[in-house]
Amino acid sequence: MTYIIAEPCIDIKDRSCVDVCPVDCIHEFERILIIDPEECIDCFASTEQLFTTQGLRTFAELEDQPCRVLTDTGFKPALVKRFRRKPVVAVELAPAFEERTRYGGTRLTTRNISRFRRTVWATSTHSWFLADGERTDSLSSGQFIPSMRAQPRRDSETYRLGVVHGLVFGDGSWNKQEIRSGEHLHYVQLYGERVAKFRDFFDQVNFSPSLDVHPGYVGTGVVRSCANLKRLLPETADVEYIAGFIDGWLAADGDPVRAGSWRLRSIDHEALAWLEAVAPYAGLVTVGSGEESSVETNFGVRSRPIRWLYLATREVFWRVMSVEPQEADAENTFCAVVPEKHAFTLAGGVYTGNCGACEPECPVEAIFPEDALPDKWEPFVKINYAYGDPEAINQLTNEYATEHNVQNPPLE
Ligand code: SF4
Ligand code: SF4
Repeated sequence: MTYIIAEPCIDIKDRSCVDVCPVDCIHEFERILIIDPEECIDCFASTEQLFTTQGLRTFAELEDQPCRVLTDTGFKPALVKRFRRKPVVAVELAPAFEERTRYGGTRLTTRNISRFRRTVWATSTHSWFLADGERTDSLSSGQFIPSMRAQPRRDSETYRLGVVHGLVFGDGSWNKQEIRSGEHLHYVQLYGERVAKFRDFFDQVNFSPSLDVHPGYVGTGVVRSCANLKRLLPETADVEYIAGFIDGWLAADGDPVRAGSWRLRSIDHEALAWLEAVAPYAGLVTVGSGEESSVETNFGVRSRPIRWLYLATREVFWRVMSVEPQEADAENTFCAVVPEKHAFTLAGGVYTGNCGACEPECPVEAIFPEDALPDKWEPFVKINYAYGDPEAINQLTNEYATEHNVQNPPLE
């Protein structure tokens, strides 16, 4: 459970919190209201991933760990918690865009968009934000959810290192591991405007006269590192490094499409699958993917088909295509407790709320996330957890009120 009702509610009980609770889990007892720990916010399957400052991580990986999650005002502190076992539903989402109508207004539509889909596994009562600013705890087909993306600084040292890594990964070559230093040596041939603009990002640039015959050649970037960057994805790197990596990889291998969007082709299917989910670190949202059928090349048959991603810079929404209950057994559910914001971002840039809706409603500040409960009110953890035993709740509350001589003044 994440929320606890504490001493200031005793004998006040004005019920302001009750109406806003999406799962009706706040209940009245003789002298206090109590939150049912079994019902209070539960959200996602353990395998769902969320955006953190250390890469995209699953809820299971982050259990009980403080982290920083992506909100509409940047990365904010959060704590990932496990909740009770519950059945989950599969929410299928399709990218949608704002379109002008012929009457001068705008509307959201998935028209002309690829068959790209994202599936999120959540509890059926999870609290979602909708594109119109409302919240819902009963998401259904046809509704639209906002997307979120990071706005990384692109002037930092970590960004520079990420770009160089991305350039090596996309278009560089591994040369050797030096025996004495143990460092891996890579080369990146710098051709064309998109790559050449990163020339100064390299500590060393050689100039090979034999390559000068190629138009647009501005040098060969030399990269030394402690690992083979050609094989390494920066999965747990920080935000700016990942953003740099994506920018570098796109500069090397991407094709700019209209309005600043990109198409990226690769036979590294695992790397593309990762990029599809993390693109919002670089301010992009993946809205299309596909596979090319031809594996014939001038040099023979490719070992793996080329896949591609379409990465959009324009504002993206997610249209709910279906919400399907699953046959599987109930499973542990997880959520991120994000003080004040009550929101975070899932893989692919799906922006979602979590609860905490009751907290700001309380006129006497009696409601706290469990981890933020003032120490002096620790006994209320036991009282809230006694939910299901009204006698125990009434008795524990009376004992506490007598012992601490609670005399809350009535609300004016
Ligand atoms: S946090 Fe949300 S679900 Fe939990 S008691 Fe408050 S309003 Fe209800
Ligand atoms: S809003 Fe606060 S004081 Fe009122 S019933 Fe809820 S917890 Fe108690």
